[in-house]
Amino acid sequence: MAGRTIVVVGGGITGLSAALRLRDELGPQARITVVDQADRLGGKLHTRPFHGGYAEAGAETFLTGDPAAVRLAERVGLGEALRHPEPVPAALAVDGHLRPIPRGTLMGVPADPATVADLAPVTGTDRDEGHPVLAPGADVSVGELVRARLGVPVLDRLVDPLLGGVYAGRGDDLSLAATVPALAAACRTESTLTGAVRSALARRVSGGGPVFATVDGGLGRLVDAVAAASGARVRLGAPVRALARDGYAWRVSVGGEVLDADAVVLAVPARPAARLLTGVAPGAAAEVGALDYASVALVVLAVPARPAARLLTGVAPGAAAEIGALDYASVALVTLAVRGARLPELSGFLVPASEGYAVKALTIFTTKWAHLARPDGLAVLRASVGRYGDVAVLHRSDEELAGLVHAELGRLLGHPLPEPERTRVTRWGGALPQYAPGHLDRVGRARAELVDMQGIAVAGAAYDGVGVPACVRSGWAAAQRILDSVA
Ligand SMILES: Cc1cc2nc3c(=O)[nH]c(=O)nc-3n(C[C@H](O)[C@H](O)[C@H](O)COP(=O)(O)OP(=O)(O)OC[C@H]3O[C@@H](n4cnc5c(N)ncnc54)[C@H](O)[C@@H]3O)c2cc1C
Repeated sequence: MAGRTIVVVGGGITGLSAALRLRDELGPQARITVVDQADRLGGKLHTRPFHGGYAEAGAETFLTGDPAAVRLAERVGLGEALRHPEPVPAALAVDGHLRPIPRGTLMGVPADPATVADLAPVTGTDRDEGHPVLAPGADVSVGELVRARLGVPVLDRLVDPLLGGVYAGRGDDLSLAATVPALAAACRTESTLTGAVRSALARRVSGGGPVFATVDGGLGRLVDAVAAASGARVRLGAPVRALARDGYAWRVSVGGEVLDADAVVLAVPARPAARLLTGVAPGAAAEVGALDYASVALVVLAVPARPAARLLTGVAPGAAAEIGALDYASVALVTLAVRGARLPELSGFLVPASEGYAVKALTIFTTKWAHLARPDGLAVLRASVGRYGDVAVLHRSDEELAGLVHAELGRLLGHPLPEPERTRVTRWGGALPQYAPGHLDRVGRARAELVDMQGIAVAGAAYDGVGVPACVRSGWAAAQRILDSVA
């Protein structure tokens, strides 16, 4: 096995995690090649220079509760570079106000209706009917369950925006079992939804530490470090067009060339995965190909926010640093005089679709992350636009989109934002999988067809969870399947 040839198709965090795990298990003799159609590695992890600093054009952070991403960072020597968000709250934009996201909810579903009453009154009946909310093995859309038991306001104002922040989708389209697995598990034993939330929250293993992390310098550093540690040969700008089986060997067509391999990890989104599987496992291809995706656009703006520090930067850098370190009220007079953005002390906010804005979420990078605070006093904001099934807004040009976001942010913040010094629009077409009810069964059926085939595994956000830790874990599991099947 050590001298085997393995091709990993897809150089996102899933494929790279698989490549590194294979290297760790197989040692230096294994010939591992990572092939990606893009001209860079990382997929949805993409750190780009931005106006004298950098900004994430894709994923920004990862959960630490599932420690897979933290362990990956540590494995590649980035443990010291991990950073955690500042202890500033996030908000919901409801009825023209920014309101703190209530505590004691699971993806917005409250454990106690009283804690959310002024934001989203409970109008459903969460009746105890003497049996678990969900039958064993059953799945349901988050929307159907929440609407029936807690009512429309809880769904529209709490659950949908939180789900939308992760999936750009709505509760009615998303599987409870795939998107809130801890709640689904609790619903199989508890007889009310709020009881299930309480039970799931009580089971949460929390060391009390920070819930999120990122890498100083950007998640692109993680991508580069994992690729380097894997020792894989990397082929970029190389779309894999076909996959064939020849006895126990695999043939991977890349451009005009065919790569022979003992094993293949397919770590690409569902559509390319389904295309590549069609010839070798048509049933699995159909199951995988049924997955739909949401498209989003991210608009990053650099706006003046602490102009006192900005104005002084050129002439007295020491003084500028002092003033820049003051809290906002201390420079308010100067700020008013030169029209800097008056930003709330928030890491960001979510906007329910029912509020009627195109913007669905805002992150204030420079408030959320201390290491991203800028000495030039600019605030860097990132808004996301685009919801599943509602793509009209994404047809606008970059300029129109940036203008729309700028205007809407002014309304959401309660005062016009100053003109940005720089904006950038990044579009992610078909980026976020929409796990419909039954998703986990579909994935199970697809993998069941592949399990008898030696040397192939599918992994990534199309199957096992959209977050970075879930993708890392999915890549590791794919590597293990290859090791088990080819050994
Ligand atoms: C805008 C945005 C923000 C996000 N923010 C967060 C966040 O803050 N935290 C978080 O945990 N998650 C976040 N996510 C989700 C997370 O980033 C992704 O789910 C995860 O990175 C997907 O990794 P992957 O390797 O499975 O797939 P991808 O990153 O999609 O990688 C797949 C790779 O396959 C390549 N490929 C496709 N077809 C072929 C082919 N035929 N031949 C060769 N190569 C091919 C692609 O070029 C790509 O590089 C975000 C996602 C998006 C879109």
